[in-house]
Amino acid sequence: MSSSCCGTPDPNGGAHNNTRWRLILWVALIANAAMFLVEIIAGLAADSRALQADALDFFGDAANYAISLGVAGLALSWRAKAAMLKAATMLAFGLWVIGYAVYGIAVGSSPEPATMGVIGVMALAVNVSVALMLFRYREGDANMRSVWICSRNDAIGNVAVLAAALGVLGTGQAWPDLLVAGIMAGLAIWGSLEVFKQARIELAHG
Ligand SMILES: [Zn+2]
Repeated sequence: MSSSCCGTPDPNGGAHNNTRWRLILWVALIANAAMFLVEIIAGLAADSRALQADALDFFGDAANYAISLGVAGLALSWRAKAAMLKAATMLAFGLWVIGYAVYGIAVGSSPEPATMGVIGVMALAVNVSVALMLFRYREGDANMRSVWICSRNDAIGNVAVLAAALGVLGTGQAWPDLLVAGIMAGLAIWGSLEVFKQARIELAHG
């Protein structure tokens, strides 16, 4: 999940047909940005912190595609600054989800498992579709492994949301939702700190 898994795709990943590759990256950007909004809104509507935490990953991935399309051709320092901005935003979102989960523990929350299930399946479908698209159109196998690891981790996050939905349904309690949200937001925060570290090294060397 999160920024620790999904790197910025090579903007020349489809060197043979750059226009088509850029189009693919645009589709991936729009799909991830759309799912970010869907999960945030559905997460708030269904009182599910796990959905909101899963949205963090879509945000991070959308930002990666945007960086890839926008600044990858520019100097390394600009990429590093863009990565820092992304990490700062993810850190803020991650802390908000954690804070909101703690608030949920304090005042009680009642996540709706049905909405969590539907949106979780939708998120999984979007992640798998984007992964297949990237696999199909990128050239060479340098990025194959990172696309695979990233997609697998994203799918694990989506499955964790589905598990939380089942847990809420089975127990009639909110803690499975809060637990999954806490773990996922924690991973997102850790991932954003890693991006910070990397970007600082790049800036120091640039
Ligand atoms: Zn991801």
